Amino acid sequence: MSMQHTGVWILAEQKAGRIQRISHELITRGLELAGKRNVPLSAMVFGYGIEQADIDDLIARGVDRVVAVEAPELAHFLVEPYAACMTSIIEQYRPEIILAGATSLGRTLMPYVAIRVFAGLTADCTGLDIEPDTGNLLQTRPAIGGNILATIKTPNHRPQMATVRPHSTPVAQPQSGRKGEILRLAAPQATLKGRVIRKDFVADTSEHTLQDAEIVVVAGRGIKKAENVALVQELANALGAALGGTRDVVDRGWLSYPHQIGLSGKTISPKLYIGVGVSGSIQHLAGMQTAKTIVAINKDPDAQIFRVADYGIVGDLFEVVPALIKKLKTGQTHGK
Ligand SMILES: Cc1cc2nc3c(=O)[nH]c(=O)nc-3n(C[C@H](O)[C@H](O)[C@H](O)COP(=O)(O)OP(=O)(O)OC[C@H]3O[C@@H](n4cnc5c(N)ncnc54)[C@H](O)[C@@H]3O)c2cc1C
Repeated sequence: MSMQHTGVWILAEQKAGRIQRISHELITRGLELAGKRNVPLSAMVFGYGIEQADIDDLIARGVDRVVAVEAPELAHFLVEPYAACMTSIIEQYRPEIILAGATSLGRTLMPYVAIRVFAGLTADCTGLDIEPDTGNLLQTRPAIGGNILATIKTPNHRPQMATVRPHSTPVAQPQSGRKGEILRLAAPQATLKGRVIRKDFVADTSEHTLQDAEIVVVAGRGIKKAENVALVQELANALGAALGGTRDVVDRGWLSYPHQIGLSGKTISPKLYIGVGVSGSIQHLAGMQTAKTIVAINKDPDAQIFRVADYGIVGDLFEVVPALIKKLKTGQTHGK
């Protein structure tokens, strides 16, 4: 391993110029690793008009050096300029370890940079340690649908890059009198080029209702095309339910990511779950198997979902769902 690589770095995140909590969680992780390696802990942050007090606070919480790279174009996260800035920090400072949050920013930026610098990346770590003999970073994360904990090493490349699950670490507390180095740099023009323009921000309000909903209807790939989301939505409306989707449905763009239920989406525990054309993969089950009552509609009698379902309807969803909607609507009329 090249001797040039040294130091543990974290990627601090800012929003509207304020340093975010995940950065303070990463300091806790970073300090432990830097202590074991006997190297300094540095933080990089990209943005514009970042609060000086928040930068000072990073030092107070345990960072030895903060490199803040700023430009109006960096105020909001865009992967190309952020990646260019991170890459130039890697070239200049040659970190041996870089930690970022497994937030949407960290999960987008880190793989983009890792591929450019030929580094290994372990996403979504729950445990990090240093291997005593080699000094390699031991990166532990749940694998195979959460059934095992895998410890991953990237011995042949530097930096070793990992993202850390938010809220898996206590925040580092500030201490008075800590001193450190602060570099506030204007981003070089060359790093600011990108093909993506940020036009606007529109909050998706649907994600709040999904995790609180008592009834959730989930669309799976069995619905076959985007237009058929309307059919599942109609069933959800008839039940006063929230609408979710499997990853296959989200990856195809039929529903947005906040709707995704499962290992890499949301975990829900409603009173009633209805899966429509959902196969019941282990990753999907990880997000919904604690539902009180599970109903599955699937044309394949051997579908995995039937193993966890309380009620299974084996049939074509394009026949079953309209029939259910009709029944629910007439039922309501009778009830009035
Ligand atoms: C690391 C990792 C993380 C993942 N995270 C998630 C996650 O968070 N959430 C998630 O959902 N998945 C996740 N996945 C993906 C997962 O492995 C499956 O690919 C996915 O859940 C399958 O989605 P599906 O059930 O919609 O599609 P499929 O598995 O294709 O199932 C479609 C089902 O529809 C049925 N069907 C077809 N036509 C009809 C019809 N006309 N009427 C009735 N039934 C019909 C079929 O019999 C089939 O069972 C993850 C995978 C990996 C590797």
